[in-house]
Amino acid sequence: MVSSVGERLVITSPATGAVVGEADCSDPAAMPATVDAAREAGRDWEAMGFAGRTRVLLSARRLLAERAESAIATIVAETGKPWEDAQSAELTFGLLALGFWARRAEGFLCERGRRIRSPLGLGRSASVAYSPCGVVGVISPWNYPLALPLADALPALMAGNAVVVKPSELTPLSSIWIEGLFADAGMPPGVFSVAAGDAEVAAALIDAVDMVAFTGSSATGAKVMERAARTLTPVNLELGGKDAAIVFADADLGRAADRCVYYGMLNSGQTCLSVERVFVEEPVHDRFLALLADRVRLLRQGPPGGPGSVEIGAMAAPGQHRIVTEHVEEALAAGARVVVGGPGGGAPGEERFHRPTVLADVADEMRCMREETFGPLLPVTRFSTEEEVLRRVNDCTYGLAATVFTADRDRWRRLAAGIEAGTVSLNEPVAHFALMDLPMNGWKDSGLGSRHGREGIRKFCRAKTIVGARRGPSPAPHLYPFSRWRTRVILTALRATFRRPRRGSGRS
Ligand code: NAD
Repeated sequence: MVSSVGERLVITSPATGAVVGEADCSDPAAMPATVDAAREAGRDWEAMGFAGRTRVLLSARRLLAERAESAIATIVAETGKPWEDAQSAELTFGLLALGFWARRAEGFLCERGRRIRSPLGLGRSASVAYSPCGVVGVISPWNYPLALPLADALPALMAGNAVVVKPSELTPLSSIWIEGLFADAGMPPGVFSVAAGDAEVAAALIDAVDMVAFTGSSATGAKVMERAARTLTPVNLELGGKDAAIVFADADLGRAADRCVYYGMLNSGQTCLSVERVFVEEPVHDRFLALLADRVRLLRQGPPGGPGSVEIGAMAAPGQHRIVTEHVEEALAAGARVVVGGPGGGAPGEERFHRPTVLADVADEMRCMREETFGPLLPVTRFSTEEEVLRRVNDCTYGLAATVFTADRDRWRRLAAGIEAGTVSLNEPVAHFALMDLPMNGWKDSGLGSRHGREGIRKFCRAKTIVGARRGPSPAPHLYPFSRWRTRVILTALRATFRRPRRGSGRS
């Protein structure tokens, strides 16, 4: 949580209400100067080459491993999430991402030759090279305050850009912690900097940078795109989701229940890739509901202590508790029933914790099945056929990811082809986020562009096509000056090139 005193943000723990830190608020008016300084620092950073930048990132990885407890404690303090969530989804991701981008960036970006198949390219050579954009503005949310700034900043940095991060005003401490880590790892000053503050600071950043990588809600994503359009600044948007889990009768139901509970409740359900809707095939619906309920009843909730203290922590953002409560209450009023949990939770006036909840008999029209809940809620519904569940899963404005639980790989491939989402997994939600070779795309209101993989670093570059001239005299006639004779010759040549294939010639 946050309040501001003058030019400082005062950060309080969402789990306890205790003040856990402060951060200087950036002055929007000073943003052009901040970005100019970053641009200047970025030139030397680019000149260090891949080898130099790799050395710094690998040194940062070693330091992050050494300082793991401090990183986790910072994340836990400002988000109220359990120690294990911070360790598994943020620290581990950070370590993997530092190694991945340090070692793979050059391969993704080195200049490569391109084959030209057009007859006009006869005798020509061509290649594509990638140059950094300049300064990348990374605007990030509060739910993964260490992992998400790194997810964008690392490929941007390895591509040779400078980066200015605008963390959520609720959770700036982790980004500031990263800034210190990079400085100690030998990153030149100004290459990575933090601009703490609210939407006004973010808007000033968008106006000044050369590219924007935004992660947050779909509503804010639209505002970011609108703002960036004023300066024709490219944007990448990683937005909200309403991911479905589809459980077929032939699935390993125990495993499916484990995964739905873990990935539905991880970080109190405040994960873009959370399981937010559960569709269960009719014959196993009641059995599966009982398996979910058994598991959710075991979860311990409360302010996170050290390792092993609780499974479910706090709602990190003010207002989030109310949204989850509303989704549950509206569903109950419209005919759903509580299997475990229920609306609300936490002491009155101090609504920091929403009970982990399973709802049954939900309908597709309910808000809990249509809008992003972003809380510890698993709404469960039943389905009869593959065609029916495909139609219902796709009847949604979001398209981030979906998971199919089944023993039938052919069925999974059929559904994977039909589901309108950037990723469709078999028997394992969310985990693909850590597989950085794979691009992660949001369809529909879930985003624009790609994170991770080759696509996830080339977006931070300007591509340049380099075309070589023919060797020797040109075999093609020049067009100028026109003459009737020359025009006829060209037409005859074109007809010969594109004539209909003779039967049996095998030409296409
Ligand atoms: P948010 O959109 O409220 O805020 C995100 C960031 O945008 C913050 O830094 C905020 O200060 C800034 N911001 C707010 N108003 C702005 C404006 N007008 N212009 C520019 N920037 C502005 O999101 P949140 O509540 O912090 O995060 C939760 C959302 O993020 C959820 O919808 C979640 O699904 C999404 N998310 C998506 C991914 C993904 O990879 N697709 C990952 C994590 C979170």
